[in-house]
Amino acid sequence: MKKQSQDNTERFSAENYQRPQLETPNGEKKLFLHSCCAPCAVEIMEALAASEIETTIFFYNPNIHPRDEYEMRKEENIRFAQKLGMDFIDGDYNVRDWFDLTKGMEHEPERGIRCTACFDMRFDVTADEAAKRGFNLISSTLGISRWKNMDQINGCGERSASRHEGMSYWTYNWRKQGGSQRMIELSKKEEFYQQEYCGCVYSLRDTNLFREEKGRQKVKRLVKFYGRDAVLEDAEKEN
Ligand code: SF4
Repeated sequence: MKKQSQDNTERFSAENYQRPQLETPNGEKKLFLHSCCAPCAVEIMEALAASEIETTIFFYNPNIHPRDEYEMRKEENIRFAQKLGMDFIDGDYNVRDWFDLTKGMEHEPERGIRCTACFDMRFDVTADEAAKRGFNLISSTLGISRWKNMDQINGCGERSASRHEGMSYWTYNWRKQGGSQRMIELSKKEEFYQQEYCGCVYSLRDTNLFREEKGRQKVKRLVKFYGRDAVLEDAEKEN
């Protein structure tokens, strides 16, 4: 059993993995991809590039708080889009609208109704922008994270796409076939900024409360990078 899992780790590593040619669900060769951050996007962007699916990255995340965190996540994503030669569209940072939308849901848990509203907002704008630019297929990088509920994300994505005739949301499971493993490997290779909370001010608060309960240090923003911070990571594992 142990041997099998070791074999899979090797087979699915970024170095050895033979990427399949992905087929889109509606045969489209063009994808409008909502992206939340570089670490979640990296494996997906690589997979799409290898399949020659013409991808435009749409960074629309007014949930991210505070502003310097938002800029850092965005800049890292721009850096990788430039590396792959993918188009990158910088969406609005209409943070006031996000706070208005989530009013009264400040104490909802992660993966609850506040997150549904947050995904709906981001995917509605993604679908509108995609329609304006002539795309019939959208998706998001959000589903690759093991912290997220994929059914919740897919439901929101499909709802947003259905507002436009002929548009589909691609529900591909990016975690499978070692996708989660390569996401970390590639993030280390690219030395991406490693955020430690989902994005909004409430997720930052709740992550800190959780850490406090476990006797761990609070989140240190803007200082941790994949692949560079072995010492910091080791220290955290001990906690
Ligand atoms: S926890 Fe994440 S998905 Fe949920 S509302 Fe906050 S930023 Fe949005």
